[in-house]
Amino acid sequence: MHDSLNLSNLTEPREITYYRLALCISIIGWLICVVTISPILIIGIVALLAWLGNGLLVAQIKADAVKADADQLPELANTLARVCEKLGIREIPELYILQSGGMLNAFATRHSGRHFVVVYSEMLETYGPDSAEMEFLLGHELGHIKRSHLRKRFLLWPGLLFPLLGNAYSRACESSCDRHGAFASSDIEGAINAMMVLAGGRPTDVAMNPSAFALQYTHQRGFFVSWYELISGYPTLSQRVAALVAIREGHSLSRAGRNLLAYPFALFSLGGAASGGANMMITIAMIGMLSAIAIPSFVKARDNGQRAACLNTMEMINEAKESCASQFSYQLGNAISEADIEPFLGCDFATLKCRKGGDYTINPVGDAPECSVHGTLNEQYRSR
Ligand SMILES: [Zn+2]
Ligand SMILES: [Zn+2]
Repeated sequence: MHDSLNLSNLTEPREITYYRLALCISIIGWLICVVTISPILIIGIVALLAWLGNGLLVAQIKADAVKADADQLPELANTLARVCEKLGIREIPELYILQSGGMLNAFATRHSGRHFVVVYSEMLETYGPDSAEMEFLLGHELGHIKRSHLRKRFLLWPGLLFPLLGNAYSRACESSCDRHGAFASSDIEGAINAMMVLAGGRPTDVAMNPSAFALQYTHQRGFFVSWYELISGYPTLSQRVAALVAIREGHSLSRAGRNLLAYPFALFSLGGAASGGANMMITIAMIGMLSAIAIPSFVKARDNGQRAACLNTMEMINEAKESCASQFSYQLGNAISEADIEPFLGCDFATLKCRKGGDYTINPVGDAPECSVHGTLNEQYRSR
């Protein structure tokens, strides 16, 4: 199959599929949160903490990292502008270089409506400011911005808690962004080389062979590799290189199968290489703990409300009963039928329903009316 990149086919179809799936689950999740009220407070607090933490991160970037613009690192700023134009991004994000003690990394983030791209200094040193490698790297990060991955993560939070789905969605997003990077790069060899450096480090070109590395993806399909893939938020580097090599050769990557036994293992193994695993455990534990406190008090409040409503109804029945007894001069112990008191109730006796599901008994004159769930009117007064 021919697979030439253009602006309309950069997103992986799987990203859309997983997005829809996660969205459906998330809508249910959010509804449960809204209906049961208490978790929404916890989510609010967690979201606030995440927002504050992100604010500090962005502050560090603004204060400690070197901003690439016309005055500093102008070549790099030019590369960014070029890549933005190619990807159709009109609002150019701020780009910073951060000293990172030799780590190879880059990321995009967002705060108060503005986007930031951060490239670690080691990447700038390795790739150079104006290279196909740098175009690929920036294109990848801009892919996250263009596809609004950060905002979607918040929306999809409940759905992404599912171990397999969260990571599958995340991997599909990264694959989409690699395609954005490959499209943004003026030379596919540069894109492949950029990825090879991530895998094997800097002394690259001569010693490493991308086609051979791509075969590691096809050939290593055992149980443990499958398991490792399923609990990762990123496609493996050999898979990412294989996808880029496929683009170079004009076809799309034929995705290798997985050992099926890995799925149940991945389902029950939180953590490991999965970046979200630990967070997920903490979140579930927090929600569990707080629900254990909140849900009983919620249930108690609801029970009290139902009891009070039931008491009102029984008072109404009692009043109707008293009027009826005096009108017809009934004696203590005389039975009163539904038809007898209906004129005094002003409604059909059968329409009186206890909110906890009880049925009412009128009882003879002198005995209090009764609810099959809550008991007699007198007992209700006592337990109030
Ligand atoms: Zn990424
Ligand atoms: Zn009742």
